[in-house]
Amino acid sequence: MRKYLIAGNWKMNAGPKEGKELAAELSAKWGDHSFKVDVLVCPPYLSIPAVVGELSGTEIKTGTQNHYPEDNGAFTGEISTSMIKEAGCSYAIAGHSERREYFQESDEFIAKKVKKALDDDIKPILCVGEKLDQRKSGNHKKVVQEQLNAVLDHLNPEHASDFVVAYEPVWAIGTGETASPEQAQEMHAYIRSLISEKWTEEKSANVQILYGGSMKPANAEELLSQPDVDGGLIGGASLKAGSFSEIIEIAESLSK
Ligand code: PEP
Repeated sequence: MRKYLIAGNWKMNAGPKEGKELAAELSAKWGDHSFKVDVLVCPPYLSIPAVVGELSGTEIKTGTQNHYPEDNGAFTGEISTSMIKEAGCSYAIAGHSERREYFQESDEFIAKKVKKALDDDIKPILCVGEKLDQRKSGNHKKVVQEQLNAVLDHLNPEHASDFVVAYEPVWAIGTGETASPEQAQEMHAYIRSLISEKWTEEKSANVQILYGGSMKPANAEELLSQPDVDGGLIGGASLKAGSFSEIIEIAESLSK
């Protein structure tokens, strides 16, 4: 049975001081609570030590928003998976649409990042999703298929239970607009069928597929109630301990 994963992507928000405060609020709220769901926050690099410290008594995990797929060396400005592991992170977001758009990250490069994370025991969260014009022209499934297969082709199916996908329609990220529960379910089921084609049905059934795009307390229940929606990658609503915690509570209450 898949667990929900409720993951916060803080993006370029909450530096060391603010990040520590936000993590302290989450720690005060959740303390030693034993979750039925997986909970994760992905702060900016500089805030990670303070956040890991604040969350140390809780079950909330910490992850990164980006990493470079080499062990070490002359890659000015970059950070490796061994470094993020040493800092206490267990997850790594890869292929977020903002990195594809503003930093020209290609499918090939994203595949290397996902593979490197898995090889080094970090769970990658691969983001895929179409832009508005691609949905309007009916190409949304083709876009997602290409993004996903470009990565799956490089992975070992044995990694299935550590591999996470986030379906994030670009037109819903930070816009206040959300995919309808039906649109989300349709794409999530399609993603699962693609994984099943490459690997096996059993392995694809183990992959957590998150929805991302303006998820908030008001729409979380209907999205998370869809059979193939296994959690959320949450931007704006993860920057307040209150709204993030409300989404965690909804996922907890929907968990068996
Ligand atoms: C995201 O950053 O991945 C995201 C989904 O952002 P938001 O929740 O703000 O739309």
